[in-house]
Amino acid sequence: MLPPIANNFVAGETPAEALAHTREYNEHGIGVILNLLGEHYDARAEAAADRDAYLQLIEDIAAEDLQACISVKPSQIGLDVDPEYFETNLTAIVEHATLRDVFVWVDMEDHTTTDTTIDAFEPLAREHGTVGLCLQANLQRTREDLERLVDVPGKLRLVKGAYDEPADISYSRKERVNAEYRELLRYAFEHRESGVAVGSHDPAMIEHAQELHERHGTDFEIQMLMGVRESAQIDLAEDCTVWQYAPYGDRWLSYFYRRVMERKENALFAARAVLGRS
Ligand code: FAD
Repeated sequence: MLPPIANNFVAGETPAEALAHTREYNEHGIGVILNLLGEHYDARAEAAADRDAYLQLIEDIAAEDLQACISVKPSQIGLDVDPEYFETNLTAIVEHATLRDVFVWVDMEDHTTTDTTIDAFEPLAREHGTVGLCLQANLQRTREDLERLVDVPGKLRLVKGAYDEPADISYSRKERVNAEYRELLRYAFEHRESGVAVGSHDPAMIEHAQELHERHGTDFEIQMLMGVRESAQIDLAEDCTVWQYAPYGDRWLSYFYRRVMERKENALFAARAVLGRS
């Protein structure tokens, strides 16, 4: 069972708990992006197990007509095993989800995976339009990737980027990443009519997106992580489309550790909870 403190960031260990979490947030008008925790598998059996878990989750979402979709990590469905195997698994998931009217997001991992991920995503998006891709502002290449993909059906999620990347291909200064993020948002809103997802908790970036929406009329959604600025998620959902990215599954420890370590307040909160329980 999940310890209470991890409950803040992880929607349970089982699909049933993740679906219960989804129902709860749907009541607040917030859609839920479900991610089964798992990455960097080097065996086909692990990748196949998570692919099958997503296929079942798609059935569960469709059966209840929940406001929910899924987000898949490439290395979770075979990218580290063999790029073709990853493409085959992603295609199986997207085709099944399309039949059930469930949207599929593809997370973006570190820069060594970017080309393969985009190459697998683009034809699926052009064929089905029921799939979205994450693009990272901390990579210098992303402006060109966005120009390549700006007219794809489906959605594009812009994030600042979570991976430490080599200095010669990335922007490392926070101010530079923020400037690039603003610029990518501007370009996306100028060139797309819909399907822009702002994957950020940053109030300044959300305000920027709202201004761009007013100027260009582009439909957009705000995406935030479970456990981060949750009251803002509920407030924003009054006027905007808000989706919450909610991970679940028994591989929660390293995800939880990342969330706690990325912010002093989270670490203090975790420490207080642990001390309070001891
Ligand atoms: P930051 O730049 O970290 O912070 C800016 C401001 O936001 C802060 O000053 C504060 O006001 C507010 N803020 C940020 N965090 C908190 C907090 N914990 N509590 C309160 N306020 C806070 N990265 C990838 O590389 N690949 C992915 O596929 C990917 N998918 C993502 C999906 C979603 C839905 C989200 C939200 C993020 C995803 N990320 C992904 C992570 C992303 O790249 C960033 O690392 C992460 O979102 C932190 O950047 P930020 O823009 O939220 O805010």
